Amino acid sequence: MRDIGDKSKDLRVVIIGGGPAGTACALASKRLAQGRRVDITIVEGKKFAQEQHFNQCVGVLSPPLPELLTTCLDVAFPSHLSRGEIEGYILHTGQETITLDGDMQPSTAVRRVQFDAYMLETAQERGIRVFSARAVDLEFHADRVVIYTENASLEADVVVGAFGLDEGTGALFARQTPYRPPQALSSVVTKYHPGSPLEEAAGRYIHAFLPDHPRIEFGAVTPKGNHLTINIAGRSVDAPMMQYFLSLPEVQGVLPNFAEAGKWNADDQQFFKGRFPCSLARCYYGDRYVMVGDAAGLVRTFKGKGVTSGILTGIRAAETILNAGITAEAFDAHYRLANRDILSDLPFGQFMRRATILFSRYHLLDPIVRAAHNDPSLHKGLFDAVSAHASYRDVMRNILKPRVVARIVREFVNVHV
Ligand SMILES: Cc1cc2nc3c(=O)[nH]c(=O)nc-3n(C[C@H](O)[C@H](O)[C@H](O)COP(=O)(O)OP(=O)(O)OC[C@H]3O[C@@H](n4cnc5c(N)ncnc54)[C@H](O)[C@@H]3O)c2cc1C
Repeated sequence: MRDIGDKSKDLRVVIIGGGPAGTACALASKRLAQGRRVDITIVEGKKFAQEQHFNQCVGVLSPPLPELLTTCLDVAFPSHLSRGEIEGYILHTGQETITLDGDMQPSTAVRRVQFDAYMLETAQERGIRVFSARAVDLEFHADRVVIYTENASLEADVVVGAFGLDEGTGALFARQTPYRPPQALSSVVTKYHPGSPLEEAAGRYIHAFLPDHPRIEFGAVTPKGNHLTINIAGRSVDAPMMQYFLSLPEVQGVLPNFAEAGKWNADDQQFFKGRFPCSLARCYYGDRYVMVGDAAGLVRTFKGKGVTSGILTGIRAAETILNAGITAEAFDAHYRLANRDILSDLPFGQFMRRATILFSRYHLLDPIVRAAHNDPSLHKGLFDAVSAHASYRDVMRNILKPRVVARIVREFVNVHV
């Protein structure tokens, strides 16, 4: 195999997918090239610029995203796209509610399509070629990868899979390599326009719901300036489940003017479907290929920051390609190691997800929330879990203290005995 780790040689990188992970990988590769001839192409099937196509997302950009953009990609954080700052969460379990805010930098709500357009335009301005077509097939050869698109074929030394959870593209790679896509949760998204501007306070908190419905793992109502975005997620959520969620009094209670209006406005009746990865992909790198972002399943299990993880893993893949090479060994030694923060937290995230599903089914989350009102350590644990500001390992460290567990048990016993 041609030794592409050799920094004196030219390098052709084709990135399939121009979402956050793909554009970050392209921008970081360009930046790290430092005089070496690196030819970078992003193949993106959607058109974000005229808002013709969307990637399903609520569009909450969380720390350390601004810092990653400026320090690792030399890209200004697009504050001009802000639809408001998110300062905290209001968590609703079956019977209880708690406000969770910490001393972290706030998150920023944007329209995701505008963020994707901003990143792709920035890539183009930096000399990265954006190929507007879908990749439809691939061939791996000893000296190159051939990428067939809807209107031309491209050759690369290495191909980066930044295609999110696109099932067709995942299947292309699975046919040609040992790669197997991550498992996924499905999500249904809709919008609600209350008719009058959201009040200041209502506009700064995301309402997170853990309903006791066996198939809805979580739901959220997120302020986006003039409207609220509502989403639910679970193994197989669908439109009737969204209707059920919207019928819950506690959900209607956070939709301003909903009771008076009694119905959706005509713009608000559309439901959209998306997917979240909930496990690691198998064989997400090999000779001449590497997956980033959702395609790799390299995201925080259960609750979020998918955009931030996509950007982070895109940068890490670029660092490996430019500094270490494009063989399975190079990705194993550098890319996997660089992602050990995400990888080592996955089992803790899986555990938390299963525990939350079980606890909500048996109405055991209410005593936890009641105990958190009086216990700063538990309060911080819940804030970190919901906001994704700390690893699940640290969340569990805060929650599984004997004093905290005793307090939760006391709350449970007070009600049930
Ligand atoms: C309902 C919902 C809400 C979410 N809300 C948030 C949130 O508020 N904040 C947050 O941080 N994360 C959120 N996420 C997660 C976030 O959207 C993802 O983690 C993130 O978009 C992953 O980025 P990516 O670049 O890996 O993939 P994607 O953003 O999915 O981008 C993949 C791109 O590849 C392109 N593509 C796929 N196949 C091909 C092909 N064959 N040829 C050409 N192009 C192709 C697609 O068109 C797409 O543009 C949400 C996810 C869902 C489902």
